[in-house]
Amino acid sequence: MDNEVQGIVMPDYSIGFQCIAGECRHSCCVGWEIDIDDDTYEKYKTVTGPVGEKLRACICPPSEADEPQAHFIMAENERCPFLNSDNLCDLILNLGEESLSEICTEHPRFYKDFSDHMEMGYGLCCEEAARMLLTHSDPVRLIGLSESDDLRSKIFSLLQDRTVALDARIDNIFSLFSDSAVSPVIPSEPSDYAHWGAFLGSLEQLDPAWGIELTKLKDSEISSDDLDAFKTFMEKEGRAFEYENLLWYLIYRHLGEDPMEDEALLCIGFAVLSMRIIRYLGACRWKETGAFAKEEQIELCRMFSSEIEYSDENIDLIYDHIFDLSSP
Ligand code: SF4
Repeated sequence: MDNEVQGIVMPDYSIGFQCIAGECRHSCCVGWEIDIDDDTYEKYKTVTGPVGEKLRACICPPSEADEPQAHFIMAENERCPFLNSDNLCDLILNLGEESLSEICTEHPRFYKDFSDHMEMGYGLCCEEAARMLLTHSDPVRLIGLSESDDLRSKIFSLLQDRTVALDARIDNIFSLFSDSAVSPVIPSEPSDYAHWGAFLGSLEQLDPAWGIELTKLKDSEISSDDLDAFKTFMEKEGRAFEYENLLWYLIYRHLGEDPMEDEALLCIGFAVLSMRIIRYLGACRWKETGAFAKEEQIELCRMFSSEIEYSDENIDLIYDHIFDLSSP
């Protein structure tokens, strides 16, 4: 489906996004309870024939108590009941794309409403969105937004200054806030990663594979020298930009309009923490095998996004923890 929306700001790397449907290894139609908006629910009630019968059998209607919105009742292995054995959607095949509920139409897009414009992007919990971000080697640009000297533009400009090493660029970004009373504590030493491994391990998890990654974060003995050697490996592979892009995405997605200084600092702290954890996990794999493929990077980012970014509860707990560690 064509994804460009007139008048909405979006990153250049995501133009041309297409869901890869049956080729997707981590379909968004598995593992999530899928809500059905009210208009679509009413429409589904009128569908006739076998599809209509299946719709009525597979939808949990809204209840006033704790489920205000109708949703699909998940089938075996937490699959959407309309996801067929080829991993294609039977509703699209039988009723067309326009029959989908809002969340099925929009996912993995996210939108941000600014006072004078709207922005959108594609969440990294979608492996195709992650692939597009992590294969775009030029600095990311926003399409449809005029130049500005606001805080976010300054941050992006420092972040994309490729004459400087990425960790020094991060220091330069934090120096924009040198007058702030809050100073986010983000991991740099191996013991810091062990701390965050234990903390993230205490949060709700969806996929046991994420638990294995967190155990690595907690127990792996990656020294500062190992980490430096991994950074050199990524530079030689021409892949250092992957971490720049990841930080860019996290700031783009999570930094709101005109944030208070402390709010902006926490958001950047969260973005840097996330990037460094993903980089550390990459270093663990590289140390184990001497290699770290692009596909592994895509999978780490996808998993991180599904487990953390798509859980408001987990994000809130992480922000609180960064704040607790950072308070003067
Ligand atoms: S996760 Fe992305 S590529 Fe996979 S089915 Fe969903 S939208 Fe399509």
